Amino acid sequence: MNLPILSIIVPCYNEQEVLEETTKLLNAKLKQMITENLVSPKSKILFVDDGSKDNTWHLIYKASLKNELVKGLKLSKNVGHQNALLAGLFAAKDSSDCLVSIDADLQDDIDAINEMVRKYIEGYEIVYGVRSSREADTFFKRFTAEGFYKLMDKLGVKLIFNHADFRLMSRRAVGELEQFAESNMFLRGIVPLIGFNSASVYYERKERLAGETKYPLKKMLAFAFDGITSFSVTPIRLVMLVGCLSFVVSLIFGMYFLALKLFGNTELGWTSLITSIWLIGGLQLIALGLVGEYIGKIYKETKRRPKYIVDVDLFNLPIPRKLVNM
Ligand code: UDP
Ligand code: MG
Repeated sequence: MNLPILSIIVPCYNEQEVLEETTKLLNAKLKQMITENLVSPKSKILFVDDGSKDNTWHLIYKASLKNELVKGLKLSKNVGHQNALLAGLFAAKDSSDCLVSIDADLQDDIDAINEMVRKYIEGYEIVYGVRSSREADTFFKRFTAEGFYKLMDKLGVKLIFNHADFRLMSRRAVGELEQFAESNMFLRGIVPLIGFNSASVYYERKERLAGETKYPLKKMLAFAFDGITSFSVTPIRLVMLVGCLSFVVSLIFGMYFLALKLFGNTELGWTSLITSIWLIGGLQLIALGLVGEYIGKIYKETKRRPKYIVDVDLFNLPIPRKLVNM
């Protein structure tokens, strides 16, 4: 049997602190897999520079000059983790049999890649890397992550619990991914929609090698909110439900106040009036905001803007003698 050609896709945004170490470790890993005859010597590591503002691209470029196994893809600007990942997957697809995506900080265990490839050889098209524990995370991150997965489950979105973007996909699976034309690609939700035979591999997630998280709280919340609203219309239905409820409640109150007026005591409290105005006003604004969020999504989708633009492709094209923007 022919050995599978593996491409390891690594999205990088301002990762100069970790890149050298990551390149070293991934390179050793890939070499080991090649000597063990697990993957083809044509396998590659593809670093995708997601519009970094630091030395990231320079380091990738230098590594690709020194090392046959290392390739680089430079995006024209920062487009976010998910889109950078897509850019890498699509660039490497045609010359790979299977593709593994992994973060640049190597929080995910690279030793799990062997097992992923073995599963691929067994016939699985998608292999999810699943964290067996969240020990390395802060309490806050653990708590919010768990809440997120539970909420998504309640909303009827099929996610693999404790799986982020460390996964193997066959060329065929990545090909199917191209059919999903939506501009907000929440891969964790979309990949399970592809179907096919899939398996999971368990590993311990570590601390970041160096540098800081590129997902501060604000970005993390935005990511979660995007994930929810692009996969479920339940929130909008909930708003309607709350609206109905508050309508019923205000009817009851109305009748109560009317009864008070008719049967003697007309001293209606200012407090109840003002609280209900604020309550209804607040609910309406929330509802309006949520509807706006969905309309905004529709607006974005109808424009069909490209998800990313490639600046330099060292994976498919020969290295140009003189690189601009170095
Ligand atoms: N990343 C990216 N573009 C961005 C933000 C992050 O390509 O706009 C990459 C980043 O370089 C890393 C991966 O996405 O390889 C995950 O980011 P990070 O490790 O900071 O997230 P965390 O593990 O803290 O959730
Ligand atoms: Mg990380």
